[in-house]
Amino acid sequence: MSLSKNIRSKARELGFDLVGFTPADPLQGARFYARWVALGFAGEMNYLKRNLDKRAAPAKMVPGARSVICLGMNYYQETPSTAHPLSGKIACYARGDDYHDLIKKRLWVLWNWIRETSGETTQGRVYVDTAPVLERELAQRAGLGWWGKNTCLIDKKKGSFFFLAEIITDLELEYDEPAVDHCGTCTRCLDACPTDAFPDPYVLDSSRCISYLTIELKGPIPRPLRPGMGQWIFGCDVCQDVCPWNKRAEKAAEKAFRTRPGLDRPSLIRLLEMDRQTFNEQFRRNPAKRPKRAGLLRNVAVALGNSGDVAAVPALTRALQDPEPLIRGHVAWALGAIGGADARTTLLKALESEGEPTVLEEIQHALSMLN
Ligand code: SF4
Ligand code: SF4
Repeated sequence: MSLSKNIRSKARELGFDLVGFTPADPLQGARFYARWVALGFAGEMNYLKRNLDKRAAPAKMVPGARSVICLGMNYYQETPSTAHPLSGKIACYARGDDYHDLIKKRLWVLWNWIRETSGETTQGRVYVDTAPVLERELAQRAGLGWWGKNTCLIDKKKGSFFFLAEIITDLELEYDEPAVDHCGTCTRCLDACPTDAFPDPYVLDSSRCISYLTIELKGPIPRPLRPGMGQWIFGCDVCQDVCPWNKRAEKAAEKAFRTRPGLDRPSLIRLLEMDRQTFNEQFRRNPAKRPKRAGLLRNVAVALGNSGDVAAVPALTRALQDPEPLIRGHVAWALGAIGGADARTTLLKALESEGEPTVLEEIQHALSMLN
């Protein structure tokens, strides 16, 4: 068997569902990517704005690079279809263990095996989720799938619920044919996006995307985008769930990605009442720890506001005493969105005792929503 075939079979043995090879040529999408950043579509994700020239040329990342080994690992988990209005939604990639550590370990096993097989002088580097836009072009070139109108990489048989990873190496390999676009006239993902985050097909304005708003954004969520977040408290699967190519998506074989107890449709009130210690215990080694307690509870407050359920008012009233101004500000908004006499009384009381200007502004705005 050739080295390429051996690598493919070793990668599958290690749990990678998709494997392909492409030459380490410069990326055609580099100009598109630079324009995407310049238009502000990367939001506050400054790490995506650095080293643009390096990201666009695999040879600049690994001197003498000839090939890129592209890999995909399925993370799909089913979402329960019935849900209580006071329960939150977490994107399916984030309901189990954090994928970075697991995939990186597997990549290292694969890379060490490649070096043992091909010779110790073989050069290369492993990457997981370091350049999300450009790695999709590499994966498309390596035949893993096409770049869909929802900007996800889609495999015709397995859909789009995949983590992507790469190894850039100076090895010469047998290359795959690039994948072909099968979106056709479909526009389901574009039509379904709750925050209108697609200015054009194949282009995502991350600064409007719920995944960005709930995970990457550090400060307040822009008020006009809050209603569109619905019950999403970490990430969003809408544009993948509606994609017809995901109809046959199979549950991930990897046990670490299985939904943890309590994270399928978590109680929003229970989450809002988490102190720091409970948060750390619940989200240890889970992706949802990324926005920290303040960021996650900010999202939970918005989801409670969107529920419109007065049953949330007592918990929101208590949360107006939270030490974090970011949480208090979004709790005030939630009370304004739910409305009713109790919400008004709570907000008027908070107006007298609140000392933080940003929260006071949210309280005043919430009261104006009630008028
Ligand atoms: Fe829109 Fe959600 Fe897709 Fe983001 S993840 S583009 S918010 S549908
Ligand atoms: Fe393409 Fe339709 Fe899937 Fe969107 S929903 S990515 S347009 S096939």
